[in-house]
Amino acid sequence: MDYVPVEKYARFGDIGFNAGIILKGLWNTQDHIYDKLESEISSSGKKIVAPPQSHGSNVAILDNSYNDKIKADGVLCGSGDCCLTVKTADCLPLLLADPETRFFGTVHIGWRGLAGGIIENLFLSIKNLDIDFDRLYISLGPSIGDCCFEVGGEVAVLFNDDTVTARNDRYFLNIKGLVKKRLLSLGVLSNNILDVDECTGCNADKYYSYRRDGHARIQMVSFICRK
Ligand SMILES: [Zn+2]
Repeated sequence: MDYVPVEKYARFGDIGFNAGIILKGLWNTQDHIYDKLESEISSSGKKIVAPPQSHGSNVAILDNSYNDKIKADGVLCGSGDCCLTVKTADCLPLLLADPETRFFGTVHIGWRGLAGGIIENLFLSIKNLDIDFDRLYISLGPSIGDCCFEVGGEVAVLFNDDTVTARNDRYFLNIKGLVKKRLLSLGVLSNNILDVDECTGCNADKYYSYRRDGHARIQMVSFICRK
């Protein structure tokens, strides 16, 4: 009956994590998505954590109390047996894991969070945990590309020229390109970055797009947990 496909990020499996994204499917309600997620990780009895996202730049570290009411677009988990999730439908879902300390995290990245410094906040938190950036495994999931992501001049001006493309007096923003560049400049190894290089706006058969589909109730859910 349900058709809710899951794409697994196999490289996280090599370092002891289960990670991937639940994609657009038939009969796809938010309940179906979380049911599917539970069945994906069912044998482990992990708590699924879905923090409220607000396009902000806060990064929180979850403790054993699993306080998932904290507002944060970035969440890191060290202790506790949880499955972190992030909902997206054009914004960029970033998943990360450290094979040594077994810390892992999710980040929801749109232009507001980027302009507010969510990447910088994330890496400050990681640095405070004494985790070396060159150890991190990171996935950049499907998000809207600069082929489709038109922004107004008031947004374009917040970013560097090489992140913004001007075409016929219109501005297009390359969020993933900017994130990737910042990750590399912080010391993340390019070999450790898995880039799902597909645009949500261009691939209607596979992905939801807020820009294309409007206020869809359904979003895609990326997830990561320890095996
Ligand atoms: Zn596109």
